[in-house]
Amino acid sequence: MKIVQVQAIAVAVPLRGTFQIASGAIPSGRNVIIRCRTDTGVEGLGEASPVAATDADTQRSIVDIVTREFEPRLLGKDPLDLPTLLATVQTAVPGNQCAKAGMDIALHDLAGKVLGLPVYQMLGGLFRREIALPEADIWLDTPENMAACARTAYEAGVRNFEIKIGVSPAMDYERVQAVRRAVGPQARIRADCNEGYDAANALRSLRKLEAFDLEYIEQPLPRWDCEGMARLAAALDTPICADQAAYTTHDVFRLLSMAAADLICIKIPKSGLAGAQTIHATCEAAGVRCTLGSMLPLGIGAAAIHHFALHARNVDIECSGVYGSPLDYYQDDLVHGSMVGKDGVIRACDAPGLGVRLDEAKLERYSVQ
Ligand SMILES: [Mg+2]
Repeated sequence: MKIVQVQAIAVAVPLRGTFQIASGAIPSGRNVIIRCRTDTGVEGLGEASPVAATDADTQRSIVDIVTREFEPRLLGKDPLDLPTLLATVQTAVPGNQCAKAGMDIALHDLAGKVLGLPVYQMLGGLFRREIALPEADIWLDTPENMAACARTAYEAGVRNFEIKIGVSPAMDYERVQAVRRAVGPQARIRADCNEGYDAANALRSLRKLEAFDLEYIEQPLPRWDCEGMARLAAALDTPICADQAAYTTHDVFRLLSMAAADLICIKIPKSGLAGAQTIHATCEAAGVRCTLGSMLPLGIGAAAIHHFALHARNVDIECSGVYGSPLDYYQDDLVHGSMVGKDGVIRACDAPGLGVRLDEAKLERYSVQ
């Protein structure tokens, strides 16, 4: 069996709103669906989901890299030679982590379908059979609006909150205070700064937030400032989590060597499944826990996150952004067969690969040139 075609299709599915984080607005999804076919008709599905305010990759760059760089190198290869295929993708170009992550997801789905195994089995099996933890992201807004959002989610049963901060230290204090008051002392709250502070103001500002019993503070400084992150991690009682500083295993090794993070946020859309596995193992070796994050994927990317979340043992799953269905944040989805039930619970199922099927009509409707 051999790979005979790799396709990249840019899609634009409308979001349910414009999401605001410290590094900018996310007005729409700009995802790319990847289809990797064999000569026997088996097809692997992948998805790249770069976030506009955060990732260097764009839809155009991803389509270009998949079709011009990945496809020629993968044609004729055996889909079960996964380590060879993944190394080929990793070394094809420097950087472009989102494109590589999308291709990695497609190759895992393909190999799983050929073997008749769910992706979580290919990763090593299940650590948990289900994830029943509703989670709410509270996007950057006024303290009053953020508190109202948090309260609505709390009344719907959510006890796990990620609040977006990182603009204006005084306002951030009010934001965190308002959300904590809205959801009470028991709810688990983490604050994501999305690189919004600088070394000169971060410590003074974040020290004030320690009064609100945050689970952790995510990516307070720009991704390149590992030295600054190490100083914050040493000075604060609240753990520091690295996100944008941690795309690759090499990034994570450096962060941990410098004691620049107490937690690492793993995202399949930035690291792929293979990268997530090595990051997870590197953290485990260092005695550092991981969290999971998302990057507004549609159903294929979300399924990859769910498979990893069901498998990975060194993850604080109760304080992660695994999300439920993409329909929570997008107006539509492109797949059938999600592991997320109508009750929002993610349950392992034994369908091969990621277990999702593309809706061809929807793919056509939402594809963009
Ligand atoms: Mg983050």
